[in-house]
Amino acid sequence: MDFDPTEDQKMMVEAVARLSADALAPILAREPASQPLSKAVMAEIYGHLAGFGLTAMRLPVELGGSGMSMVDYGLMIGELPPAVALSLVSHDGSTVRMATGAPEDLRQRHLNELIAGRKIICTATSEPEAGSNSNAIRTRVTFDGETARISGRKMWITNASVADLFIVTCTSGTDAAGKPLNHRMLVERDRPGVTVTEIPLTGLRQGHLSEVNFEDVVVPADHAIGEPGDAGKLMTLVWNGNRPLLGLIALGIARRALALAQEHCATRRQFGRPLAAMQLVQQDLSEIEMLIESARLTCLSALHAMDMGRRANGASAMAKRLATGNAVRAIDLAMQLHGALGITEEMGLEQMWRDARIFQVPDGTMGILSLIHGREMTGMAAF
Ligand SMILES: Cc1cc2nc3c(=O)[nH]c(=O)nc-3n(C[C@H](O)[C@H](O)[C@H](O)COP(=O)(O)OP(=O)(O)OC[C@H]3O[C@@H](n4cnc5c(N)ncnc54)[C@H](O)[C@@H]3O)c2cc1C
Repeated sequence: MDFDPTEDQKMMVEAVARLSADALAPILAREPASQPLSKAVMAEIYGHLAGFGLTAMRLPVELGGSGMSMVDYGLMIGELPPAVALSLVSHDGSTVRMATGAPEDLRQRHLNELIAGRKIICTATSEPEAGSNSNAIRTRVTFDGETARISGRKMWITNASVADLFIVTCTSGTDAAGKPLNHRMLVERDRPGVTVTEIPLTGLRQGHLSEVNFEDVVVPADHAIGEPGDAGKLMTLVWNGNRPLLGLIALGIARRALALAQEHCATRRQFGRPLAAMQLVQQDLSEIEMLIESARLTCLSALHAMDMGRRANGASAMAKRLATGNAVRAIDLAMQLHGALGITEEMGLEQMWRDARIFQVPDGTMGILSLIHGREMTGMAAF
């Protein structure tokens, strides 16, 4: 077992860190900090990401993607600004969902644009009455010869307000055994009947999370992706990959909080000594690094299992739960080490805390992740 990154991996991580610092951070800094970035700004950001081959990281090379290992993906994702990183994980995962199962014609029309970052895609599954229980979706698709009609309401959709394409999870009823018959339908943003409303969040405020309404939206019937009933299987595959990635994004934020805390404790003096020389302060610094490092290794291990083709449902759920919980706790400790400064807007730590907190919900809440892990450990589903 080798825990050291290769020279190639070190170079890739450094390149993404430079891209973040030199190109992306200045874009984010010049835009309002508490408003979703405009479509034009997102296009500029995706142009930079595409230039580095980051827009389709896990899409196989034969389909035009970067074909990167999940471990490499995980090493890089935490270097990006968190709102950009979440957008990218949604775009990249949705691109894989589209490319795996879309008819050739649809792929020809959209895949290159998605890989080039000229189009953005998202996946719309959650609904007001179907959150953790994605089998409860009510968005209806009806097929009538060459056309399909879609009606329903989706909630909490990443990227929706800047997306050109939606993969919409719909239902056409139940099969003979009474199982929900779900479909994935590709819907272009400019179809009549699609409306998107941004939902303000506590963190990641330059990012995009929306409600989307589909009111009798008509698409060609061949906009169906994959086979009826296979939506859940492919969702799970992408979720398994996403979970440790989201964990690593949250840990990336925590690592920046730790750097601030280390600097502050080295320079701030109380009782005639630097804070860093106090025993309890060292314990807190140790705690923060322990929280980050233990979760980082758990996330990378889950991604490695996926690269090896092993079942990773439990490992990936455990990784995201550990990492997002540890990140919030680590940032909270870093805030405490700053005293009053820690809760000012000036230090940026309160924003880090708000941003990291967001990651405890998407692609499985803390509770649902423990149930997925428990199901893998016991062979019994408790939900
Ligand atoms: C930043 C962000 C991005 C998102 N992006 C997308 C996206 O791109 N596409 C998309 O389709 N959705 C997206 N979502 C939605 C997300 O998947 C849902 O919010 C999530 O699945 C939880 O659903 P819910 O919010 O309705 O909570 P609920 O399902 O109502 O859960 C509420 C609470 O009850 C608990 N709970 C639920 N069921 C059980 C049970 N059986 N046993 C014990 N506890 C339970 C949960 O753990 C949670 O704590 C996003 C959400 C966020 C916050």
